[in-house]
Amino acid sequence: MAQFDKILIANRGEIALRVIRAAREMGIKTVAVHSTADVDAMHVRMADESVCIGPNAGTDSYLSIPAIIAACEITGAQAVHPGYGFLSENATFVQALEDHEITFIGPSAAHIRMMGDKITAKDTAIKLGIPVVPGSEGGVPDIESARKTAAEMGYPVIIKATAGGGGRGMKVAETEADIDTAFSTARSEAKAAFGNDEVYMEKYLQKPRHIEVQVFGDGQGGGVHLAERDCSLQRRHQKVFEEAPGPSITPENREKIGSICANAVAEMGYSGAGTIEFLYEDGEFYFIEMNTRLQVEHPVTEAIFGVDLVREQILVAEGNTLSFAQSDLEVNGHAIEVRLNAERLPNFIPCPGKITQYHAPGGLGVRMDSALYDGYSIPPYYDSLIGKLIVHGRDRPEALARLSRALGELIIDGIETTVPLFDKLLAEADIHSGDYNIHWLERWLDENM
Ligand code: ADP
Repeated sequence: MAQFDKILIANRGEIALRVIRAAREMGIKTVAVHSTADVDAMHVRMADESVCIGPNAGTDSYLSIPAIIAACEITGAQAVHPGYGFLSENATFVQALEDHEITFIGPSAAHIRMMGDKITAKDTAIKLGIPVVPGSEGGVPDIESARKTAAEMGYPVIIKATAGGGGRGMKVAETEADIDTAFSTARSEAKAAFGNDEVYMEKYLQKPRHIEVQVFGDGQGGGVHLAERDCSLQRRHQKVFEEAPGPSITPENREKIGSICANAVAEMGYSGAGTIEFLYEDGEFYFIEMNTRLQVEHPVTEAIFGVDLVREQILVAEGNTLSFAQSDLEVNGHAIEVRLNAERLPNFIPCPGKITQYHAPGGLGVRMDSALYDGYSIPPYYDSLIGKLIVHGRDRPEALARLSRALGELIIDGIETTVPLFDKLLAEADIHSGDYNIHWLERWLDENM
């Protein structure tokens, strides 16, 4: 067991601040890395040290494995926290760190690889007793097999890239007439996006919710779950509004799926934070994938359990067992996160630029995770997430009222943001009743924006 004196954060934006904050509370020094575009970024100002690792483009900086390893060696950082995105689910990176005797704050390269290939992930899930979406056995090699599998399963079906991520390489075939086009489009999109054209098929669920279970393993046979998040409000398969616990999940269902997931991570010997994602329809859970990193929406889970997931990631990476047992974990109240993007509505066009005035909301039950400050210029090279507003209340109505109040206090001037979207959503009865599925937001946007 090795306590870290210094860790490097291989990321930028709000998640880099999130990790710096946890490290500082633990008495661990921090190293920020940055591209030339990010020299004035908040994570660089907030860390104890910083290293420029390359030019503007992410591929030349935040994704450059040699540059990040060199930064560790120069600064003497013993471990790397990858945040989310960038290199957070890159097994080659984890292996390279290991070769240089630097600890990766996250799971093993083998677990990342296993879950990064969706067919292997699904096979593993089946072996661990996790319920999955009915679908093809492994990859679907050609149009004839696609037609045959779809006829056996019944339409509609969805064709998905084995190497998929970010909603790319997915195509729905409503009827037999669509199957040829759907299959070849999914394949060519998969090839273009991931350099791998292998696809598989699943039954297309018509009105599911997206429910994901937060898990934690200590890599020594221990595993717990921290209930679920409902992330059904999506645009183009990207989450925009997340909450915990799921408004449609009963305590019995939470316990049932939670213990299946906790046992699965324990049995795998999984180390660190993970998320097991499901579609949920008519009381049944169907596994779709496992993410082997901290998620953007992790703060809603932290709010209802009162735990620091990043601190726990660091402790586990140091070789400790988990600081909480399953019996310590009780859901307390309700939390909601909204993702604030620098985008122009109604078409969500990225809208970088200079912040002329920034004021974060505060008060009871309000958390603002953002790297913005007055006078900051958002560079155009990275994704458009500029902040996450998280609220916590004793119950869902209180959380919704608090969200509305906090949005009213927030000031972000100089650029356009997605804040007006949430003001409008909060006027919808379905949002207050919690009655929505993964298609609700797209339909609402078509009709209302
Ligand atoms: P990615 O890794 O690209 O995000 P996922 O497998 O996690 O892909 O799926 C992303 C989203 O696509 C889900 O949240 C859901 O909205 C939709 N989806 C995926 N599989 C199905 C399915 N079998 N039926 C209906 N919708 C699906």
